[in-house]
Amino acid sequence: MIVKLVIVGLGLALLYAAECAIWPLGKCWCCSGTGKHGRDDGKVWRPCRICAGKGSRIRVGRRVWNWYAGKRRAARAAAK
Ligand SMILES: [Zn+2]
Repeated sequence: MIVKLVIVGLGLALLYAAECAIWPLGKCWCCSGTGKHGRDDGKVWRPCRICAGKGSRIRVGRRVWNWYAGKRRAARAAAK
């Protein structure tokens, strides 16, 4: 039972990792990809602060990967 759960969990983690590798950018959760916030009539709006008006953000998995890659790069540079 537990083994099955671990296998399913690993599979989902792998899928998520692949997704982050293929699509590193996700929709901004704050403005849902529009890049701005405003009134419903659209006459008054301001850029989204979370994504700085871009409408996309780097996914959490990709951020972890970038952090890890940076650490590895630093370790390799230090080893030389
Ligand atoms: Zn946004």
